[in-house]
Amino acid sequence: LEVIRGVEPRIADAIAGEIDDQRASLKLIASENYASPAVLLTMGNWLSDKYAEGTVGRRFYAGCRNVDTVESVAAEHARELFGARHAYVQPHSGIDANLVAFWAVLAQRVESPALERAGARQVNDLSEEDWAALRRDLGDQRMLGMSLDAGGHLTHGFRPNISGKMFHQRSYGTDPATGLVDYDAVRAAAREFRPLILIAGYSAYPRLINFRLMREIADEVGATLMVDMAHFAGLVAGKVLTGDFDPVPHAQIVTTTTHKSLRGPRGGMVLCDDSLADQVDRGCPMVLGGPLPHVMAAKAVALAEARQPAFRDYAQRVVDNARALAEGLKRRGTRLVTDGTDNHLVLLDVSGYGLTGRQAEAALLDAGIVTNRNAIPQDPNGAWYTSGIRVGTPALTTRGLGTAEMDEVAALIDTVLSSTTPGTTKSGKPSKAAHVLKDGVAGQVAERAADL
Ligand code: PLP
Repeated sequence: LEVIRGVEPRIADAIAGEIDDQRASLKLIASENYASPAVLLTMGNWLSDKYAEGTVGRRFYAGCRNVDTVESVAAEHARELFGARHAYVQPHSGIDANLVAFWAVLAQRVESPALERAGARQVNDLSEEDWAALRRDLGDQRMLGMSLDAGGHLTHGFRPNISGKMFHQRSYGTDPATGLVDYDAVRAAAREFRPLILIAGYSAYPRLINFRLMREIADEVGATLMVDMAHFAGLVAGKVLTGDFDPVPHAQIVTTTTHKSLRGPRGGMVLCDDSLADQVDRGCPMVLGGPLPHVMAAKAVALAEARQPAFRDYAQRVVDNARALAEGLKRRGTRLVTDGTDNHLVLLDVSGYGLTGRQAEAALLDAGIVTNRNAIPQDPNGAWYTSGIRVGTPALTTRGLGTAEMDEVAALIDTVLSSTTPGTTKSGKPSKAAHVLKDGVAGQVAERAADL
C-alpha cells in the first residue's frame, strides 16, 4: 500500500477504506463474495502487461506462451469442474460472456447458413446484397427470457441493455400465486413466440430452475437453450445443484460470472457443447478486445480452489445459511417472495414494514448491513424505488458465519426495518427515498454487525 501511496495517496486510502468497510459491515449483497488471497495476488502481476488477442495457439501477437499456459489451465479446470465439453475463459465480465454466447448462437444459426447459401467462406466474401440480407436476418431474431421483476437480468434481452436492441424480446414471469416459474406458461410462450434463444437464469429468483424441462421446451420449438448461471455457478461447482438443476448437461451454452458464488476474480466465462465451440472461441475479436491474462490466471486459481472438497462444503453451507436466514426472517414476520429459498439468496418484500426498497436499503446501510434494493414480482414501486431487498449468503459464509449467526443477522435486519419510518421530501411531502431510523438503533446494530 505504501508503494501506491507514494504515487496517488487517494487510491491507497480508498483501498484501505474498502478493507475497513468490508471488515466492519455485514456483506449481504447476493452477487458479492471475498476472493482468496491467492486469487487476489494472481491478479496483481506482470501478466497484466501482455497483449494476447486470439485463442490458445492462434494469437495475433508474438510472445504469448505464458498466456497460452494460463488460458489452457483455466479452461481445463473449468471443463473438469463443470463437466463441460468446452470452456472459454476470456470474457471480462458477465455481460461480455452473454454477448459472446449470443453472437456464437447467431453465427451458428443465422450467419453460417447464410454463408452456405451464398457459397461464401466468410462474411467478407458476401455480395453487398447478401450482406444486407444477413444483417437484416441477424437483427430479426427473437429471445425469450425471465422478466426483470421475476428476477431475470437486464442482459437477457431488455431494452436498456444492448441485448434488447439486438433481439426482439419476450419475457416469461412467475406464477403470481406461488412466485415460482410456471413451465406450462414458458412452453406456451415459446410455442407462440418461437425464439431463437430460450434463456434461463436470474439475479433475484430465490428458487431452482429445472433445466431439463427448459431444454425440452427449447427443443420443441427449435430454440437454443442458453443458461446464465452467473449467480449460482458456485452452487453448481460445489455439486449442490445436480441432475435437473445443473444447467451444464442440459443447455447447449452456459455463461457465468466468476466473482459471485464461484468466489473468483471479477470476470466471465462461457461453457458450451462441441457444436458451438468454434463460434464461442471467436469471442475475441468478435465482441472482446485483448484478454486480461492476469484475470484469466486468477480464474484458473479460483477454479482450482473450487475443485477442492472444501468448496463443496462451502457451497452447501451457503444454501444452509440462506435457508436459516429465510426462516429467521419469516419467524419475525417478514414477507419473503416465494416464502423462502432453495439457493443462496432471499428476496424480502419490505412493504410490510411500510418502506420502499430504497428506504430499507439506506436504513440497513446506516446500521452496517450492506444489501441492495430489488424489484419484486408486479412491484408497485417500479425498478428504481422497489418494494424489495435482496440478500445473499455467499460472502458471509466465506467469512465463516453459520446458521446460528444467520438467525442473529435476521434479527438485526428485522430490528432495523421495524425501527425505520419513511421520511419526507424537502417540501414536506411523503418521500419514497428518505427514511428516518430511530435514534441509537444504527449504532447498536452496527456494533453487533462488526462483531459478527
Ligand atoms: N448475468 C447475471 C444473471 C447477473 O446477475 C449479472 C450481474 O449481476 C450479469 C450477468 C452481469 O455480470 P457483470 O456485472 O460481470 O457484467
